[in-house]
Amino acid sequence: MNISDKFKQKNVIFSMEVFPPKKTSPIETIYSTFSDIWQVPADFISVTYGAGGTEAQKNKTCAISSLLKSEYSVEPLAHLTCLTSDKEEICSALELLKQNGITNVLALRGDRNPEISPKNVFEHASDLVSFIKKYDPSFNIVGACYPEGHGECESLQKDIEHLKIKVEAGVSHLITQLFFDNDQFFSFMDMLEKNGIDVPVEAGIMPVINKSQIERIVTMCGSSLPRRFSHMISRYAADPLALRDAGISYATQQIIELVSSGVRGIHLYTMNNIELAKKINENIRSVIRSANKEND
Ligand code: FAD
Repeated sequence: MNISDKFKQKNVIFSMEVFPPKKTSPIETIYSTFSDIWQVPADFISVTYGAGGTEAQKNKTCAISSLLKSEYSVEPLAHLTCLTSDKEEICSALELLKQNGITNVLALRGDRNPEISPKNVFEHASDLVSFIKKYDPSFNIVGACYPEGHGECESLQKDIEHLKIKVEAGVSHLITQLFFDNDQFFSFMDMLEKNGIDVPVEAGIMPVINKSQIERIVTMCGSSLPRRFSHMISRYAADPLALRDAGISYATQQIIELVSSGVRGIHLYTMNNIELAKKINENIRSVIRSANKEND
């Protein structure tokens, strides 16, 4: 199923992100992650792509997406990056997805990695979007966006102008980088409107349940931390159980405010913690159901 159709059926959709097992782990280790996945009703589940990995590692994205579809009846969204690939490699990745009946692709540039030279074939994600559209127009293409601006771009306004090129190349909906400050998201949405970007946007939310996550997030994503969030982390840093409860509560409140304000989707960065996803989903299920009743 083309997941863009979900936005025609619902006011708010709920989706999750998972990642394949790390290099040395066999793919079967994901089974334990998925054993309870049916308890979290998601409109789709996205599967990340390890750009720097071996062929076998990259193929795990397709294998897990295929597993989600065939064994768990969940629509997968396969991530695909392009910076370190040539056309031939992208064609074989797309062919593999097609053979497995996977039609939804999150088209990404990928992060720059000093250890892996870019192939200089696809410079921006928009190049990949155009390429996929030509390769097989039946693919539904999703794109990434950054409420606080992408780290390499000189300004948020410029980043949004680049985003517009990507959307016009054929993106049906966008998923944001994770953020902790809803006000940043709301002003980003205003800017998208002013710049004529009107595809649905899903808000990327990550429940933070331990302190080590924070440093990684700030380094990798550059997300700013609102004062009440930082207070929460420092207050409960030494008490893992309290930090877990506070982190779940923070993400829940963020989601409730977003849904109340008309967000079109919540994309939960699960870090493969399905127990946590289940908890968040229980907390927000009635809110999402209520928003969708307005559509009945
Ligand atoms: P782009 O849209 O190409 O943007 C990258 C930079 O180029 C931006 O600064 C933009 O302003 C600029 N730019 C874009 N177009 C132009 C243009 N025409 N002219 C000049 N400048 C331009 N990484 C992985 O390796 N694997 C994953 O599975 C993965 N999943 C992700 C999922 C989500 C939802 C998000 C938000 C990110 C994900 N990433 C993943 C990280 C992503 O690869 C990086 O953030 C990467 O640095 C940018 O990717 P992009 O697709 O947004 O790139």
